[in-house]
Amino acid sequence: MNKTIFVLLDACRFDLGTRNLGFLEHMVDYGKGAKYRVRGELPSLSRPIYATLLNGLPVHRHGVSSNDLICRLPTENVFSLCQAHSGVTAAAAYSWFSELFCCAPFQRPKDRIRLGARGDIDYGIFYWEDCYPDSHLFADGEYLRRQYDPDFILYHTMGIDWAGHMHGASSAEYEQAILAADACLSQLLPLWLAEEYQVVITADHGMSSFGNHGGSEDAQRDVPLYLFTPRVAPTRQEARPISQLNIAPLLCHLLGIQPAAEMLGQLEIPLSAL
Ligand SMILES: [Zn+2]
Repeated sequence: MNKTIFVLLDACRFDLGTRNLGFLEHMVDYGKGAKYRVRGELPSLSRPIYATLLNGLPVHRHGVSSNDLICRLPTENVFSLCQAHSGVTAAAAYSWFSELFCCAPFQRPKDRIRLGARGDIDYGIFYWEDCYPDSHLFADGEYLRRQYDPDFILYHTMGIDWAGHMHGASSAEYEQAILAADACLSQLLPLWLAEEYQVVITADHGMSSFGNHGGSEDAQRDVPLYLFTPRVAPTRQEARPISQLNIAPLLCHLLGIQPAAEMLGQLEIPLSAL
């Protein structure tokens, strides 16, 4: 299996991500990675799109149609497929990931730290405060990566979403939150690439200037996708968006495992063999 890191910058919309993710943009400028524009699925809400990103299905197919629908996802997903191929999975992520992929409802004392517990995520550290600092989240993920050597690991930050809800996307605070995430990544990405991880960075949805998401305007649904892997040629494709249903099968192909039959995404990103 080819080790892969998946970074989910919650609510990082395409245009303001592009404007503020300076280190990631630098890497694309110098041919060190690829960038695509992704048209997010609807509704542009967190829990439904967390499911879609990992199982490749539109919301009406997987059924997690609301942030308030607390359940374990019944479908195969990138975590479960990785495990089925004897891979080790990990996540430093919001508690809703524990509910979708491990067990629901989330019980704080029991589920905050799940090491070797049952579920699609073998090793997890989960948070529930939306203001949980991204710096701590990346440190949680690094602990899991160094300690358990996972084949597939998710780092899921909430700082951008939090700033967007508090101040709207047309605010200094929202852009500062994106800059802060980029500053974390500027320290970690070179390290990850030196250790020969493949790295996929994207968002679940965007954010309106009023501080909302869930709707269909470009600001609420268009997100960036940065790819750092020898299997994707350096490129910058920002004009024509690709479907968010690409993400789950893309992650499977990068890991070197067969996507689930029901993953609808037609892979729009050309992949070379290793
Ligand atoms: Zn949100």
